Order: sequence, then structure tokens, then C-alpha cells
Amino acid sequence: MTPTASSAVVLSPVTGTPRLVDPLAPHVGLEDQGLTRGDGVFETLHVLDGDPYKFDAHHARLCASARTSGLPAPSAQLCREALALGLDAAPPGSRDPFRDLGAEHSVKLSVSRGVPGGQPWAWLTVAPVPEQTFAARRGGVSVLLLERGHDPAEDSDLPWLLPGVKTLSYAVNMAAVRHARSHGAQDAIFTTSTDHRILEGATSSVVCARTAADAPPTLLTPEPSRGILPGTSQARIFDAARRHGWAVDYGPLYPQDLLTASAVWLTSSVRLAVPVTAVDGRPVPTDPALTRSLTDFLLGRDSA
Ligand code: PLP
Repeated sequence: MTPTASSAVVLSPVTGTPRLVDPLAPHVGLEDQGLTRGDGVFETLHVLDGDPYKFDAHHARLCASARTSGLPAPSAQLCREALALGLDAAPPGSRDPFRDLGAEHSVKLSVSRGVPGGQPWAWLTVAPVPEQTFAARRGGVSVLLLERGHDPAEDSDLPWLLPGVKTLSYAVNMAAVRHARSHGAQDAIFTTSTDHRILEGATSSVVCARTAADAPPTLLTPEPSRGILPGTSQARIFDAARRHGWAVDYGPLYPQDLLTASAVWLTSSVRLAVPVTAVDGRPVPTDPALTRSLTDFLLGRDSA
């Protein structure tokens, strides 16, 4: 993978004044615990025409992740200042060739525990949204169901296991995507090992729809507070769907529910609502009109 960040901002310590830095220059000490242990937390935000979507939800989740991890988080105001600085220095965002939503950037805001004996610090990178994201929104992804080994709901009362925390340790998530790709799929959905309950995508939430003639659609997702990451995109979609009179419901969902759904999506902040085209090699229907509605819900472009 080639580096993609087009601008970067550092807050060191996390309460410090945001400072624009060269994104390609080294800024991390070799003993930084974010680097050596994945000991830190992060958020990825979607910025459209300079507007950071769901900023409050992302900042709230960053603060929750940081609290559980015993880390400080930069204030919302500092994050906004850092964001403005980074966006000002970045070239114009990229545009989705299939449905031009505006100029799009992906922003990653991370907090690390820092070097031993040092202070936690934060940094933010701004990058254009990559072509492959646009291709996934348009063409969808095939997924492999991969067992996660245990039910993360068992961890939800064990704070030292960092339940629901978006930690910097994404090595397992990336390994799951690599495993899926090496087996002919494009992405992975985790399931519990005992009853194969659907949990979440490797870097996304799972949402599916059931439709019936003459009735509003029903959206379903696994229970977001049971050890998986509570997705800001899934929450935004469900809020808008409720306003439109759609039914929404929370799991449990099983592989059969995905295979018999009217449509299934992986939802996440930058990829938005990516249609799932196949599960374990078995085709799943897609619904471009519903995908468009979910995308509009995410971007606040619905009229309700
Ligand atoms: N679940 C996991 C494991 C993720 O990594 C992500 C996003 O990165 C999500 C869910 C979706 O979260 P959001 O919609 O807030 O981007």
C-alpha cells in the first residue's frame, strides 16, 4: 500500500495546540506504545465538501474509547481546529465517478499512549477517498463469514478487554480481510463460533433489509452494544429510517438471515453503504434504490 495522507496535524500533548506537519516525515518515536502495542484509539471520519459528517457521534465514540482505555481525548473544539487546519492544507478531495456526492476526504484521528513515561498525544491525517471505495459503493463486495472465536458479548462487562473500543490494534481485522481476499472474497463478516451469530464486518457494521409489497422496508442489524463496535453509520441510518416510518430492529441475525434478506450492506463512515453481493459464495440480492436511500440517510440528504 502506498501512503495516501495528503496533510497531517499533530496535537502533542492531546490538549496542545494543533500543529500542521509534513505527512510524509516521521513523527512517531520508535518506543511509542501506539506503534509497539497498538495502545491507542482512533476514529475515521468522512468529509464531504469540507463538512465532517457525524462529527459529534465520532467525537463521542473517541471519548468513550479513550475513557475505557484510560487515555485522554482531545476536546471537540481542538479536534475541529485540527480538522480545519488539515483540510486547509490538503488538496481537493476525490469525487465518486458513479454518483458525485461532492469532494470527499477521509480523515483519521488517532490518540496514542505515547512513549513509556511520556505523554499521550494525538494526530490527524487527511487523505482523498480511494478509487476502490468508489468501486465498492458501486459494485458491492462479496464477503466470507469468519468465526471470531468467542462471543464478544461475553466481554461487554470486562473493561480490560476493551469492549466496543475502536483501538489502534486492527491487526486481527486486517488479517480477516486478507484471509477473505485469499479465499476469493473481498471482505469479511465476523460471526460467533458457537451459534454463528452475525457480529460485524472487519471494518464495518452489517445492516440488512427485508421488503414486502406495499409496506415500508424493515432494517435489521446485530445488537450494537454487545461487544461489537457501535457503528455511527448504522446508528445514523436507523435514525433516518425511523423518521421515514421504516421499521428497524436489532439482531440476533444468522447467516440464513443474510441469505434470505432483500439486501445486505456493510456500513461505515467513508465507504457509506456498500452492498453485499455474495455471502460465502452464495449470491445475495442487491437493491440500488435502497442503497441510494441509505446513502442519502447517511448524508442527511433525505427530506424527512
Ligand atoms: N465495526 C468495525 C469493526 C469498524 O472498524 C467500523 C468502522 O471502521 C465500523 C463497525 C463502522 O463504524 P462507523 O460506521 O462509525 O464508521
